[in-house]
Amino acid sequence: MSPIYESAAIKLDGVDRDAPAYLNGVALLDILLDPYDLLDRLNEIEAAHGRDRGPDAERWGDRTLDLDLIDVDGIELDDERLTLPHPRAWQRAFVLQPWLDVDPDARLTGRGRVADLRSAATDAVVRR
Ligand code: ATP
Ligand code: CA
Ligand code: CA
Repeated sequence: MSPIYESAAIKLDGVDRDAPAYLNGVALLDILLDPYDLLDRLNEIEAAHGRDRGPDAERWGDRTLDLDLIDVDGIELDDERLTLPHPRAWQRAFVLQPWLDVDPDARLTGRGRVADLRSAATDAVVRR
């Protein structure tokens, strides 16, 4: 499990300093589940932490917990349930920085070295 980084909330129209900030981390997992079953388990954990996924939930709205799959063994897929690797992780310092902390040699499938992606990312993260 990585250290935790704080980042400002990003909404559809940009950074929202009035919204609660996020605490972000990356976990490296050894799993036997396939990615869809793992996503189901992550959704259950989110629900157990009060995540509201109701029909009125706003895209990128404030939430109690958000668990995403970033890269699963280099698998590439894209359907209505799951896109792998995560399509926006490559440009998010709040993902790349904690990932780099737990694996300095990490590579993101199709995007190259996480260290290089981290250098290019512009969103601000602050270590807690
Ligand atoms: P973002 O994808 O930009 O981080 P988000 O995490 O806020 O946005 P959610 O509303 O939590 O988006 O999830 C929307 C849907 O994305 C989920 O119902 C899930 O089926 C789907 N999804 C697709 N790919 C992934 C992935 N790699 N990890 C997690 N969820 C994914
Ligand atoms: Ca997310
Ligand atoms: Ca999510």
